[in-house]
Amino acid sequence: MRVDRHESRESICELLGDVQERAARFLESLPERRVTAARGADDLAQALGGALPRLGRPASEILAQLDEIGSQGTVASAGPRYFGFVTGGAVPASLAANWLAAVWDQNSFSEVSSPIGAAVESVALQWVLELLGLPATSGAAFVTGATMANFAALAAARRSVLLAHGYDVDRAGLHGAPAITLVAGEQAHATLFKAFGMLGLGREQAVRVPADAQGRMRADALPKIAGPAIVCTQVGNVNSGAFDPVGAICDAVRRDDVWVHVDGAFGLWARASRKFGALAAGVERADSWATDAHKWLNVPYDSGVAIVRDADALRCAMSLEAAYLPEGLGREPFDYTPESSRRARGLEIWAAIASLGREGVAELVERTCRHARRFAEGLREAGCEVLNDVVLNQVLVSFGDDRTTSEVIRRVQRDGTCWCGGTRWDGRTAMRISVSSWATTSDDIERSLAAILGVVGGVARKQG
Ligand SMILES: *Cc1c(COP(=O)(O)O)cnc(C)c1O
Repeated sequence: MRVDRHESRESICELLGDVQERAARFLESLPERRVTAARGADDLAQALGGALPRLGRPASEILAQLDEIGSQGTVASAGPRYFGFVTGGAVPASLAANWLAAVWDQNSFSEVSSPIGAAVESVALQWVLELLGLPATSGAAFVTGATMANFAALAAARRSVLLAHGYDVDRAGLHGAPAITLVAGEQAHATLFKAFGMLGLGREQAVRVPADAQGRMRADALPKIAGPAIVCTQVGNVNSGAFDPVGAICDAVRRDDVWVHVDGAFGLWARASRKFGALAAGVERADSWATDAHKWLNVPYDSGVAIVRDADALRCAMSLEAAYLPEGLGREPFDYTPESSRRARGLEIWAAIASLGREGVAELVERTCRHARRFAEGLREAGCEVLNDVVLNQVLVSFGDDRTTSEVIRRVQRDGTCWCGGTRWDGRTAMRISVSSWATTSDDIERSLAAILGVVGGVARKQG
């Protein structure tokens, strides 16, 4: 059926109205529904799959199918009792901005293709730098997450440390380049090594520095480092939440051809709080920082930021020239990112910070950390063993031997009141609790504690 332009505009507005109703129903059900998905991926693929359709169908029908079937395959990770991985929700202003951005469908690669896309990035960048207490003239890339933020920042690092030895790696490539010494903590995040691999530096080439009992890199165990070298530190261990002593590491390795990078996927946001910022003292002395916005800042997926003190190093590693591209305007997003065409990711960061303000971000950090401490206290009181110093928003807990802990995790997930994942810590199986969502209330913590302790009691009775 052909539709004239007027009709098609009507129907798309109707369609978006329908989305709004369905979205409202989803959001209303979030706090009370089971956190786990009702249907698995194979089942969903079958329900939505089948032969490639020869003819299309009306959009309203497709939306209904997607909502009715697809929403059964959602995890309530946007809800208040999801404590898996490090998972933020989406503060209302940023979710709404995300909708509007989708309607605008801006290609934010350039000021020319989207003035607003370029503008919000510039503003968001200044705000993020100020919130995190990082040098105001730093360059940054708005990317999909901390994995790509590590990648982009390390591309700048690779360029800079080799340039200090007279070698332009971005022109000449790694073949024939002086070898770069890579240094990373024993407990560095897995995505860092993936970034090393993507940069041609090798996933298994880094010198690993021993960690202390909390997973912090030991500054006193750093090897003697000769440049060109890249030293990768971490603020916010994905299990314990602990921070590497970045200031001391910077002091120990400071040279022109040694670059210090900080993976601060969530931990960097502690710097927005006066109370928790002290954990990350000295972090501002590093050369680059990777962080996520979709974790602790609570913007929708996918959103991360690579920040580099020497903006030129990032720009030279990432910039692009072509006859049809604009020249000589202001800050061009495509000069800093691995991607060219991309959505206007800065909008959600701008909206989140505008809605929370400096104090709101600090309060979000402090509140989630307080929730984590309450978790730890409630678990300890019930006789469970908390394995880490709960300095941030992360709690690691053991319920006895590895089999028992695994069984508790399995049953907590099946129970569906809340969701916690598992990990290995200091040679043992542990349950991870990460409190990162703006939506979590004290009541959610008490309900989750009761559910977990109920499961623990059930497992003990079965064993006894
Ligand atoms: C989550 C995390 C990453 C990876 O972030 P993505 O957003 O999943 O790419 C890297 N480092 C640390 C410390 C993390 O916590």
